[in-house]
Amino acid sequence: MIIKELISNVAILITSLFLYTQLTRSSPLLSSSSLQKKVTAGILAGVLSNILMQYSMQFGESIVDLRHIPLILVAYYGGSIPALITMGLIGLGRFLIGVNTSSMLALLMIVFITVATLLSRRVNVRRSLKVFIALTASNVIFTIIICYLISASDLLWVLIPSYWGMSYIAGFTSFYVVEYVRESQRVLEKYKSEAVTDALTGLNNVRKFDMVFNDVSRQAQEKKENLSLLFIDIDHFKRVNDTYGHKEGDRVLIELGNILKNTVRSFDVVSRNGGEEFTVILLDCPTDRGRQISERIRKNVEQHLFLLTTGEIINITVSIGLACFNETTKSPPMLLKDADDALYEAKKTGRNKVCVSSS
Ligand code: GH3
Ligand code: MG
Ligand code: MG
Repeated sequence: MIIKELISNVAILITSLFLYTQLTRSSPLLSSSSLQKKVTAGILAGVLSNILMQYSMQFGESIVDLRHIPLILVAYYGGSIPALITMGLIGLGRFLIGVNTSSMLALLMIVFITVATLLSRRVNVRRSLKVFIALTASNVIFTIIICYLISASDLLWVLIPSYWGMSYIAGFTSFYVVEYVRESQRVLEKYKSEAVTDALTGLNNVRKFDMVFNDVSRQAQEKKENLSLLFIDIDHFKRVNDTYGHKEGDRVLIELGNILKNTVRSFDVVSRNGGEEFTVILLDCPTDRGRQISERIRKNVEQHLFLLTTGEIINITVSIGLACFNETTKSPPMLLKDADDALYEAKKTGRNKVCVSSS
């Protein structure tokens, strides 16, 4: 019977924790979280503890459950503010069930656990050991209080070991669930970001370029706005690699990425579409303005001193093809071909220049 009640406590606890960590995965509770987040977490943990109390085992006036686990969790992750709120709500909930010696001692126990967990956070040991210390402190105080409240020793011989076992299992499983969901989310976010980022320059990669281009093309068409696209290619880049080596070539590509980012407007979209080919999507930008921005890029690159690891300084130039939806080009998908054709024109007619699509 005792085991059955404790197992329902564990089940409610783990399910609620899983839901909570999933729902707050974009900004998990930390000691640096905002006050609002800490207060919310404190209230939610207090509610969860009260739900656990509704599924507790009853021995006369005493009720036994795992209400201390949500308290330990918020104290551990969020510090004193959420811990004190949860502690207050547990105390209040317990007094609503009944005001007697048992509820007085339960309040004492919960205050003790709050203090013990907040102190264990400060101890300089492994995280799992901190959890162990907090759980052991709660199990010890529980044992002392329950021995005072219940005199039937045959009951205590079953209750106390069951409580210790379940408290450790539920406590460690809860921490495992929280840590597991947090880590999975962190890894997922990392992979998501890596999937759309060019590893060398940190700019958008071609996949992200395609996604953004499709989005802004549709918007430009709907709102009948201008949309300019630049295709940028380094002139004779093969020579840089052949003369100074691939590694130095990579440094030049990184530096060029920085120049592009710093030359365009903050909301323009710079990508490395592959090799030594870059693109810039200029939002709500007519041909004339696009040409000015392209010229600025071309000049900035021409004048920039690229420092190699050997200490040598080299110069490079770029050729740029520009096409603009609504002006040079009738439909956004055609921008890709028109900008590419304009780039080819720039290469063919001397390089280090900007050509505008003439289609
Ligand atoms: P053009 O003026 O006609 O564009 O001449 P180019 O030499 O730049 O053109 P080409 O397409 O023949 O050569 C591009 C070179 O870019 C070839 C390749 O070695 C180099 N390249 C492509 N990707 C990378 C990269 O990731 N790192 C480095 N260092 N070089 C790269
Ligand atoms: Mg090329
Ligand atoms: Mg090139």
